[in-house]
Amino acid sequence: MPNNGIQIPRRLPLLLTHEGVLLPGSTVRISVNTPRNMQLVKSRLLKGTSLKSTIIGVIPNTRDPDHDTDDLSPLHSIGTAGLAVQVVGSNWPKPHYTLLITGLCRFRVCGLLKERPFPLAEVEQLDKLEQYTPSFSQEETEGDGELGALSQEFYQAALQLVDMLDMSVPVVAKLKRLLDSLPRETLPDVVASMIRSSNKEKLQVLDAVGLEERFRRVLPLLTRQIEGLKLLQKSRKPRPDDEKRVISVRKGGVFPGRQFSLDDEAGDEDGDDTQILERKVHGANMPEAALKVCLKELKRLKKMPQSMPEYALTRNYLDLMVELPWDRNTKDRLDIGAARVLLDNDHYAMDKLKRRVLEYLAVRQLKTSLKGPILCFVGPPGVGKTSVGRSIAKTLGREFHRISLGGVCDQSDIRGHRRTYVGSMPGRIINGLKTVGVNNPVFLLDEVDKLGKSLQGDPAAALLEVLDPEQNHSFTDHYLNVAFDLSQVLFIATANSVATIPPALLDRMEVLHVSGYTQEEKVEIAQRHLIPHQLEQHGLTPEHIQIPQDTTLDVISRYTREAGVRSLERKIGALCRAVAVKVAEGQKVIEPEHGSPEGSAQEERGQSPVYIAAPPERPIVIDHVALKDILGAPPFEMEVSEHLTLPGVALGLAWTPLGGEIMYVEASRMEGEGQLTLTGQLGGVMKESAHLAISWLRANAKNYQLTNMVGGPDPLDGTDIHLHFPAGAVIKDGPSAGVTIVTCLASLFSGRLVRSDVAMTGEITLRGLVLPVGGIKDKVLAAHRAGVKRVILPKRNEKDLEDIPANVRSQLDLVTAGDLEEVLNAAFDGGFAKAAKTPEHPRIPSKL
Ligand code: ADP
Repeated sequence: MPNNGIQIPRRLPLLLTHEGVLLPGSTVRISVNTPRNMQLVKSRLLKGTSLKSTIIGVIPNTRDPDHDTDDLSPLHSIGTAGLAVQVVGSNWPKPHYTLLITGLCRFRVCGLLKERPFPLAEVEQLDKLEQYTPSFSQEETEGDGELGALSQEFYQAALQLVDMLDMSVPVVAKLKRLLDSLPRETLPDVVASMIRSSNKEKLQVLDAVGLEERFRRVLPLLTRQIEGLKLLQKSRKPRPDDEKRVISVRKGGVFPGRQFSLDDEAGDEDGDDTQILERKVHGANMPEAALKVCLKELKRLKKMPQSMPEYALTRNYLDLMVELPWDRNTKDRLDIGAARVLLDNDHYAMDKLKRRVLEYLAVRQLKTSLKGPILCFVGPPGVGKTSVGRSIAKTLGREFHRISLGGVCDQSDIRGHRRTYVGSMPGRIINGLKTVGVNNPVFLLDEVDKLGKSLQGDPAAALLEVLDPEQNHSFTDHYLNVAFDLSQVLFIATANSVATIPPALLDRMEVLHVSGYTQEEKVEIAQRHLIPHQLEQHGLTPEHIQIPQDTTLDVISRYTREAGVRSLERKIGALCRAVAVKVAEGQKVIEPEHGSPEGSAQEERGQSPVYIAAPPERPIVIDHVALKDILGAPPFEMEVSEHLTLPGVALGLAWTPLGGEIMYVEASRMEGEGQLTLTGQLGGVMKESAHLAISWLRANAKNYQLTNMVGGPDPLDGTDIHLHFPAGAVIKDGPSAGVTIVTCLASLFSGRLVRSDVAMTGEITLRGLVLPVGGIKDKVLAAHRAGVKRVILPKRNEKDLEDIPANVRSQLDLVTAGDLEEVLNAAFDGGFAKAAKTPEHPRIPSKL
């Protein structure tokens, strides 16, 4: 064919593709991942600098992709020279490039010059490639007899098709303009690449080198499309966006650089989808800034083919944006009276906490935009912190969402990952909002004391931004990259201990301590809440099972040892399960004449035992026998006295994040050089307490007649002392063991036994004063749980005794001590008297 226009190079690198057929005049995206094609992209497209180096030959790979071989022959002989407009590389899910290629003209392969690293072929250009001058080519084709008529007919059909489309879609309008301006001879290729046609049909169009043949091949396809459209329009109710549904044309621009979409089903759905998405974006009522970002992303999405990995990313992002509750909220219904009733109904005891919560709610009622502190419930596990948070949400009529922060050590957990990362996602706050679907939920930030820290940034700092009322109206999640207003969210935090809450965070919070329960409170909680709740969970009613009060008490004192009620709830659950099995199987019993225990013996004798179904005797009462049967032997048989049969043992009280605990201190002495050995994983403060105790005792040895092993006046003379704090796997620290160490050593040096039913706590000074310590309520409750009768406390902790429930106070002998002398007197039977004062030396009268 004579060629008087632009020429393509005579040697072209070839790109074999399974992904459809590139026709001159159309632009397609081709994903490239075979070794040869990758090489071509790397060494030709990415290295080349001239325009010529961006022209490659695209040959449809006609072989079955599943049985493709490395062999190049047979190679389809006709291809399209294309201009690589864009190359995008990605490593996900595997290394590949995506090329945006615009078809220029057909060529024929004359011979392969080389096959590796990518095929290079000697080619012959088949179509003209010139600057289009419409008037000239129109005259030329029209004047060409039969070809002219054919082209005219084709042009009319194309016009008809365009007229059937929705002209309000910009690309359709542009297409109509193009029909007039493009040379007629290019129309078959352009139209064939846009209408719905199979790859085989397109291949035939590609192979139609003669213009007349090309018109003939495409015309039936065009007519088919028109007929199909007509049918569709007839079968549907005319709606304004019908055409848009029938044929979706993306706004991506038209030739060159047009991305065809009339020809694939997926394209249709996708267009429809993006339109729905666009409507959702407009309907989400998001703030201006967010809307702007969304529309920008939407625009990008429309231009992307679905196969691009970024498509899914952008799509996910937009889906999240439209799902977020930008202006959806629940209406607060706040009635303090009702709130009080609800809190009381849901929770037994915890009066102080409930009072403070009601105050907080009352202020909210009076002042709607409350920028107050964040409530933080601090206490051992299972004391109802989460449950109170849930009740607050219930009283306010708000959604409740729990965000567990235990172990979170990456700030992206709170603030999300930037979208540049593969697998990036929003943080827990935004995720929570998406889950609840309103912008004013109650968020319970669980376990703020267990936030970690790592190289990935400090989550506490991110949380600060979330909680700070001055900042959180424009909280920016990295994934969203636009501000979201969190000021309507009600945050409540929980923790086991304030000690490990990051100080900056603690500063923003109002700490409400929730201490453990007494046995009596636990019995009440079990009877009123836990048992009914567990019955319901297991599908039982009080007609099936009865757990009397003393069984509950047994479970509390012998099967659990905790500040809260979580394992109590589990044990009750175990009782319910056991009864549920009995109820479900209708309690099969053995007929009396066979005798129940002989069941197995009968089987051995070859007779099968006879079972009859009888209704279980209801209700099944869980007495002590049943309890032991179901739960096994009780793990906690606490006999405090049995531990104190030797001098050199004393019982202390410790506070842990899990509540109060009793703790033994043991001491022994042996011949040596006055060394002190401490074991039991002690912290620095505890070691200091031990040294303090020894120094005080040495200083006061004479007063109390304390001696070393051979009766010498210095208890440390020729003696080594070993102090041990059992349960050595647990790290212990804090000053409150001071008085216990002194008592323990006093017992060792004096050889007297400490009273078995005494527990104590208090910090000591070198002068022998007893200083106040924390966690008094938890410690006293722990002593009470363990069956201790007398508790020695620092005098200055007297004010804390008010918190201790009256019944516990009445059962315990609470002794407050201002100095160590008082402690020792209370710890030993009959007191720990000082030695009788030695008579003063007789005065020597002055001779002067
Ligand atoms: P926490 O968050 O303090 O670890 P939870 O709130 O999860 O503890 O409480 C554990 C269980 O104990 C829940 O089923 C809760 O209803 C129950 N519970 C705890 N305290 C009380 C109480 N005072 N009254 C009623 N139920 C309680």
